[in-house]
Amino acid sequence: MECQNYNITRGVERENLNLNPLQRGGILPREARKALYEFGDGYSVCDYCAGRLDEVVKPSISSFLGDLATFLNADDVKTVHGAREGKFAVMHAMCDEGDTIVVDGNAHYTTHLAAERAGLEIIEVPNSGGSEFKIDLNKYKETLESAIDKYDEIKLALLTHVDGNYGNLTNAQEFGKICSDLGVPSILNCAYSMGRLPIDMNGWKIDFVVGSGHKSMAASGPIGVLAMKDEWIETVLKRSPRHMKKEIEMLGCTSRGAPIATLMASLPHVIERVNNWEKELKLTQNFVAKLEKIDGIEQVGIKPTEHDLVRFETPILHEISKKHPRKGFFLYEELKKKKIVGIKRGQTEWFKCSTYGMNAKQRDYVANSFKKIIKKFVN
Ligand SMILES: *Cc1c(COP(=O)(O)O)cnc(C)c1O
Repeated sequence: MECQNYNITRGVERENLNLNPLQRGGILPREARKALYEFGDGYSVCDYCAGRLDEVVKPSISSFLGDLATFLNADDVKTVHGAREGKFAVMHAMCDEGDTIVVDGNAHYTTHLAAERAGLEIIEVPNSGGSEFKIDLNKYKETLESAIDKYDEIKLALLTHVDGNYGNLTNAQEFGKICSDLGVPSILNCAYSMGRLPIDMNGWKIDFVVGSGHKSMAASGPIGVLAMKDEWIETVLKRSPRHMKKEIEMLGCTSRGAPIATLMASLPHVIERVNNWEKELKLTQNFVAKLEKIDGIEQVGIKPTEHDLVRFETPILHEISKKHPRKGFFLYEELKKKKIVGIKRGQTEWFKCSTYGMNAKQRDYVANSFKKIIKKFVN
């Protein structure tokens, strides 16, 4: 067969300011780029493996997992391939097919798919709607209580710590208390929080926490973090009777190369940025305030925002698009001219964005660019 030479390149991050919330927390620091180069070959972390990925000492995966557990205040930590794989492993190990679990109404689609793959039914706690789309934990508690009444036992309750639509942060400590008081194992989806803001798993009395290396931990991925309380190790990390060293739910080994190498190399950088979360949040709030000064742009979700992912309703941009020859594409194209990318093409009624990790000057440049673009078309 003849095949073209896939000479792939990507200048998006090098040449532009990228506002795509999905990508801002996954940018590699220099030390992780070096690890990516060193460990790019297949099975590269297996040089000194004696059958257990988590016990490899060169590179020092075993001590890395210990550091990660300390960082999250967790009893035990494993790597998986993503937040979704972590959720699926927990659901599959903790529940039986046909069981019902409770999840918040801002849950990510991968929460639903993980539950569907595990054969579970879902009860949803709706968000508040309005302009906040908030998860009310009193309502969560009521829903969980009536689910327990109806089904006798609920084996898992899930909360999305920060959701990917509004960037709403929900109180994990309160959630942990509700679940532990009711005796329901809890799982906190930290795809948008672990690696950005502090996680205190045992302090919050949460049973399972999942994170996403490529979303929020400056790793190439695909890689996820699954942290659990000691009491669940036997259930979730059950060993194969034929292959005594191998954990069934992990299919033996999970991340086997560059994904875990970059996650490891980035940990010091990630710890530092989590320590600086309050500063980061201030910069985001300033950015939001600047955009909201423009007539026809308003943030939705909890205000002031408690996360760098922010969603705006933008009727003014929609008005412009109706008269513009490029219709909805004008915004993307005008931003691109200013070397700003990451807003979905063709969309003008609302957008999500994040300026996570940008310096104040870059954020000002982005806010001013929106101002200038709107001024150009509105007289
Ligand atoms: C991005 C995201 C996920 C998926 O993370 P993966 O690591 O790619 O599986 C799950 N949940 C939320 C809330 C997300 O934002």
